[in-house]
Amino acid sequence: MKIENARLLVCGGGGFIGGHLVNTLFAKGAASVRVVDIKPFEEWHQKHSAADNRVLDLQLRESCVEAAEGMDGVFQLAADMGGMGFIENNKALCMLSVLTNTHMLMAARKAGVQRFFYSSSACVYNADKQKMHEVVALKEEDAYPGMPEDGYGWEKLFSERMCRHFREDFGLETRVARFHNVYGPLGTWNGGREKAPAAISRKVLEAKHSGLHEIEIWGDGHQTRSFMYIDDCTKGITDIFESDILEPINLGSSELVTINQLVDMAEDIAGIKLKRNYNLSAPKGVNGRNSDNTLIEKLLGWEPSIRLRDGMEKTLAWIEQQMFAGEASR
Ligand code: NAD
Repeated sequence: MKIENARLLVCGGGGFIGGHLVNTLFAKGAASVRVVDIKPFEEWHQKHSAADNRVLDLQLRESCVEAAEGMDGVFQLAADMGGMGFIENNKALCMLSVLTNTHMLMAARKAGVQRFFYSSSACVYNADKQKMHEVVALKEEDAYPGMPEDGYGWEKLFSERMCRHFREDFGLETRVARFHNVYGPLGTWNGGREKAPAAISRKVLEAKHSGLHEIEIWGDGHQTRSFMYIDDCTKGITDIFESDILEPINLGSSELVTINQLVDMAEDIAGIKLKRNYNLSAPKGVNGRNSDNTLIEKLLGWEPSIRLRDGMEKTLAWIEQQMFAGEASR
């Protein structure tokens, strides 16, 4: 199915990835885009005037029915989520996203939607494969036997399976991508739900502007991760949506860095050097995680085009603007 000329729904479009995705869908010639989020409009990261914007709670079945009506395709990105600090301390809230996924799949089927994209996560991967800092990149089959991140990861793995069975039993064409850490401007950068690139950028900038040249780092800084810039992510989402790929597939960068290296990068961009205080009791997630992109490169020719250093420059610049925009409006 093509995005061009299609009537499309973005669930969770007031959020970071959804907000950027709406731009991509319009750029690719979507006939119309409906955007739904539970947050009031003033809290949306982006609000597109050309879209049909609605505030609805998609945990409720009737809201999902309203959202799906008349749609050809659905992008299901709505989830109660955040960085490690949020996920580790709010497992029940994370698992309640199962209501959104269940009701959206049921509503999509009822509305005769042709294609349903689901945003899964690298948190579905078996924890035993992520104990070492020196990681072997995760291949799609490493999700089984199932031992995902507690709470958030279990819900994602379950909802992936639900997508599979709605396709096999009910003929709803589902596509599933496992996102690995996405970052960039116009996302959450403070308040407790932000992820590592935004949190580190903010902390480095706060240190620079306050003159207190210290930074708190969660864990020992040796944890390894990869980070995908938002533009690569939205391109990957639309490629996967339009593809014939039936099994969940990795969508992430394979440029592996330690958290210390990410801090080095942010410091270098901001032009400062900070004293590092390691908080070993803070949530830090698995020791090491990277995306094996063999499959997506083979099937779609997709690979990330934006180096971490370049994406971090854009992210820091945007967060710095936000910090001062907040001050100016006080
Ligand atoms: P986000 O928090 O910015 O966006 C999610 C949006 O869903 C939010 O705006 C939120 O208000 C909305 N939402 C939550 N509950 C809702 C409800 N009941 N009804 C309607 N809307 C609701 O997060 P994001 O980074 O844009 O992530 C989008 C999707 O990608 C999520 O499903 C997330 O689990 C997945 N994902 C993201 C990352 C990442 O690094 N950002 C990594 C892996 C997976």
